[in-house]
Amino acid sequence: MEKGRTRVDLFEYQARDLFAKHGVPVLAGEVIDTPEAARAATERLGGKSVVKAQVKVGGRGKAGGVKLAATPDEAVARATDILGMDIKGHTVHKVMIAETAPEILEEYYVSYLLDRTNRTFLAMASVAGGMDIEEVAATTPEKLAKVPVDANEGVTIEKAREIVAQAKFPAEVAEKVAEVMVTLWKTFVAEDALLVEVNPLAKVANGDVIALDGKVSLDANAEFRQPEHEALEDKAAADPLEAAAKAKGLNYVKLDGQVGIIGNGAGLVMSTLDVVAYAGENHGGVKPANFLDIGGGASAEVMANGLEIILGDADVKSVFVNVFGGITACDAVANGIVQALALLESKGEKVEKPLVVRLDGNNAELGRQILTDANHPLVQQVDTMDGAAERAAELAAK
Ligand code: GDP
Ligand code: MN
Repeated sequence: MEKGRTRVDLFEYQARDLFAKHGVPVLAGEVIDTPEAARAATERLGGKSVVKAQVKVGGRGKAGGVKLAATPDEAVARATDILGMDIKGHTVHKVMIAETAPEILEEYYVSYLLDRTNRTFLAMASVAGGMDIEEVAATTPEKLAKVPVDANEGVTIEKAREIVAQAKFPAEVAEKVAEVMVTLWKTFVAEDALLVEVNPLAKVANGDVIALDGKVSLDANAEFRQPEHEALEDKAAADPLEAAAKAKGLNYVKLDGQVGIIGNGAGLVMSTLDVVAYAGENHGGVKPANFLDIGGGASAEVMANGLEIILGDADVKSVFVNVFGGITACDAVANGIVQALALLESKGEKVEKPLVVRLDGNNAELGRQILTDANHPLVQQVDTMDGAAERAAELAAK
C-alpha cells in the first residue's frame, strides 16, 4: 500500500490546459457540471461540440462517454446522458465541451514517462494510436517505438525527429509530429510530470496534427516548486476521512469493510487486514474498514486521533487494536488506549463501538493488566491475533 500521494493524476481538461500553456496543439474546450451549461458552451464554439466525460480512466469513447453534438440542444441532451454515468466504477461529475475536430484521418500515440527501472526518461510513439496502447505493446510491439531521453539533453527538434523516424510516421506529418514532441517535452519538464500522454494525436483533414485526448500525471513530490498544482488536485474525490487523517498526520487508508483496524507497524497492520478478512468469511463476509498504522511511538494522543477517525467512519461496527510492543511497550499503549477513550469522551464523543484489543510483545502482561483494571465497558481483550480478529469480525457482524 502506498503511503501518501506520490502522483497527482489529472482530468483530461486539466491536461488540455497544460498542453495549451506549453504550445501543444489542442482544440478549445471548457469544463461544465450541469447539462444546461452545455448549451452556452456549445454556442461559444460555433454551435457544435464534442461532449466528453471527465473521469480518470481510459476507454471513455468505447463506454459511451464521448459524443458529438451537432447543435446546442443536442449538446444538452448528450451532457444529460453522460453526467452521472458510471464508467468503469467512476461516476461522471463533469464533462468537457470541446471544439469538434475537422475530419480525423489518422490517430497516433505519443508520450513521455519516467522509466524507473531503467532510471531514465522514455519517449514512446506509435502510428497505431486511438486504441489502447497496452494492447498495441502486447500484440504488435514493433509498432511502438521506445526511445530513451537523456534528462540533460532533453528533446530538441533533432531528438524529436529521431523519435518520429523510429516510429515510422508518414513523411507528410513527420515534421509536425516532431514539433509536438518538442512542446510535449516542455510540458513534461516544466510541470514536473511523471507522465504526459496524447492518445489520439490526430491527423485531421487540413493536414494539422492535434492532441485530441491527454493524460498527465504530476509528481506530487515537486509541489513545493509548483504552487499552481495544488488547485489541480481533486479534493472532492479524496475521502473525507482520509483528508482528516492526513491533517492529523496519520497513515490511514479507507477501505470498504466494517472492522476498524489500528496497529503499530505497516507489516503488522497488513497482516491484520488479512486475518480480519479471513475471519470475516465466517461472519457474513465482514471486512477490514481501513488501514491505520500508528507507528512505533503510539502515544495516547496518536491513539486518540486514530480512534477518532475510525469511530467517525459510519461503516465501522467494531474496532480491532492490534499491538506488538517493541520500543514502545504494551503498558504505554494500554495507557494510551485508556487515555484516548477518556479524551474522546471528554470531548463529548460517544464511544459506542466495541474495541477488541490484542497486546503482545514487550510488557504485554502489564499492558493487559492496565486494561483489565480500567475495566472500560467497550474494551475486550483477546490474547492471540487470530482470536482477536475472530472476535472483532463476530462483533461487526452483529
Ligand atoms: P478515451 O476513449 O477515453 O481515450 O477518449 P478520447 O478522448 O481518446 O476519445 C475517444 C475517441 O473519440 C478518439 O479516439 C476519437 O476517435 C474520438 N474523438 C475524440 N474527440 C473527437 C472530436 O473532436 N471529433 C471526432 N470526430 N472524434 C473525436
Ligand atoms: Mn484517448
